[in-house]
Amino acid sequence: MIKLFTSHDSFLVQSVRSELDALAIPYMVKNEFAGGAIGELPWQEAQQELWLLDEGWADKAHRVVDALVSNRKGAEKREATEWVCATCDENNGPAFDSCWHCGQQRPLNG
Ligand SMILES: [Zn+2]
Repeated sequence: MIKLFTSHDSFLVQSVRSELDALAIPYMVKNEFAGGAIGELPWQEAQQELWLLDEGWADKAHRVVDALVSNRKGAEKREATEWVCATCDENNGPAFDSCWHCGQQRPLNG
């Protein structure tokens, strides 16, 4: 059994689990209930661990995780960070979907 993924980001963990379910990749969850210490530990801080039951799935499962993690990071970036226009090097605020200076579309990864 190998450890696949762990995160404090419960949304991201849930996304990975949904994808593993969809692909019928066998896994188990550890720390799902944080040792049962409800009341001491807010559920948001319970860090779930996803373990692969069969190492034969490791390559596929890691690709799933990588894709979801980069999507998640990309989404956060697009929401909350400034970005630099690739065409004119102008700084644009997080609210701009295209460059205020030259109209270039905002890149998905930046
Ligand atoms: Zn520009």
